[in-house]
Amino acid sequence: MAGDKPSAIEAACISKGMRMTEQRRIIARVLGEAQDHPDVEELYRRAVKIDEEISISTVYRTVRLLEDAGIIERHDFREGRSRYEQVPEKHHDHLINLRTGEVTEFRSEEIERLQETVARKLGYKLVNHRLELYAVPLDDKKT
Ligand SMILES: [Zn+2]
Repeated sequence: MAGDKPSAIEAACISKGMRMTEQRRIIARVLGEAQDHPDVEELYRRAVKIDEEISISTVYRTVRLLEDAGIIERHDFREGRSRYEQVPEKHHDHLINLRTGEVTEFRSEEIERLQETVARKLGYKLVNHRLELYAVPLDDKKT
């Protein structure tokens, strides 16, 4: 991997002044490539395939650094474990499949507008929000 050009997430780390060791670089890259909002255990499984010297505590520390630097975002989808994604360029919300834990990203302009309307009616200007939908598939047999 040495000599590869830095990924966007690595470039973000460097611009925030983070000292990038080879292991941090690997963890950052794994995060940058993930589409599925992995937790620390899953990040560790992926990172250790690239460098077997990486420890889970290094993954924990790196994730915390990246979160503090505002490069990644932490989600607590009520599963008792935090999941992470690179801070997206464009805002989106999440739907969590309660059967599988699978996370689907979506954006609804209607919901975005409604939230602003609600805030305004309460006398506020909306600056941020988080919306998580917890759902089971329509053809789910267990409900
Ligand atoms: Zn997301």
